[in-house]
Amino acid sequence: MVDNAHILPLNADVALEELAANAVAVGLPMNTPFRDTTLREVMLIKGPIGWAEFSPFPEYGAEESARWLSATIEAGWHGWPEPVRQSVPVNATVPAVAPEDVETVLARFGPVTAVKVKVAEDDVATDIARVQRVRELLPDADIRIDGNTKYSHDEAFEVITALPFLAYAEQPVPGIEPLAKLRAALRDAGSSVLIAADEAVRKETDPLAVAQAQAADLIVVKVQPLGGVRRALSIVQHAGLDAVVSSALDSSVGIAAGVALAAALPSLDHACGLATAALFRTEPAQPALPVNGVLTPGPAPVPDAQLIEQLKLPDERQRWWQTRLAKAHSVLTQNA
Ligand SMILES: [Mg+2]
Repeated sequence: MVDNAHILPLNADVALEELAANAVAVGLPMNTPFRDTTLREVMLIKGPIGWAEFSPFPEYGAEESARWLSATIEAGWHGWPEPVRQSVPVNATVPAVAPEDVETVLARFGPVTAVKVKVAEDDVATDIARVQRVRELLPDADIRIDGNTKYSHDEAFEVITALPFLAYAEQPVPGIEPLAKLRAALRDAGSSVLIAADEAVRKETDPLAVAQAQAADLIVVKVQPLGGVRRALSIVQHAGLDAVVSSALDSSVGIAAGVALAAALPSLDHACGLATAALFRTEPAQPALPVNGVLTPGPAPVPDAQLIEQLKLPDERQRWWQTRLAKAHSVLTQNA
């Protein structure tokens, strides 16, 4: 049994009419395809205290989207808790490129103290060589790998034990039980590489289940899927695990909420995955790009009216997003 009695309720205290009247759906062109698309669609909503984002991925249903809307309401109508730190370190990301291309990829980032290396898209030997190349170029960086659930147990074990300098391995295998089995096998083999749960954390009860199964040392948390900054904080505290904050490919309006969460966590030992604004070719607000490897907490950036006009989706997509907003709102208020 997972006890979720201490998790804060979702924010459901704004009328649909008010949300709908202040919402616009925009498309952000991406530099490289992600989730098979080159246009990230997001809805931006202007609340009384600032701009907010509602951007569940297109295939998400109303139940899941309701949690994202709770985060939107928090951002635009309630605001975030006070930060306990004024700078949030963020990681650079090296996609599954050939080892000889790692240097070129890293050169695009400024000063870097943490690097996430994508793995499990090639053979194991190439993955290991890619990570070793990062280590050669940045011997002092906090290096982690992200397998996005795509390794088998044996592949994950081989890669992680070959790279003992790793800070942690993010969701190398799918689910909670396989993660727990891998973590136990690594401990038995004397490995000190930590395990992070990402894909296994999609709803509020998951972090508690991850903790209960001793499946991970830390959890990757995202503001919108967990229903807001305060709610994510309560979930992390209740799970009793360290956390790393990531974006859900949010626009820079949503990134501000991620930075607010990272800045409010009682402890933050690892750089966060919030430097994703560079993936967009253009967006309506000032992009949240790190300076010297850090982002600073503050209000969400205000989108430029002209850029909104330029990036605004066609009428048929506006209607589609308004329908989703209404369905998510209906679930949210029924459950409140
Ligand atoms: Mg991940």
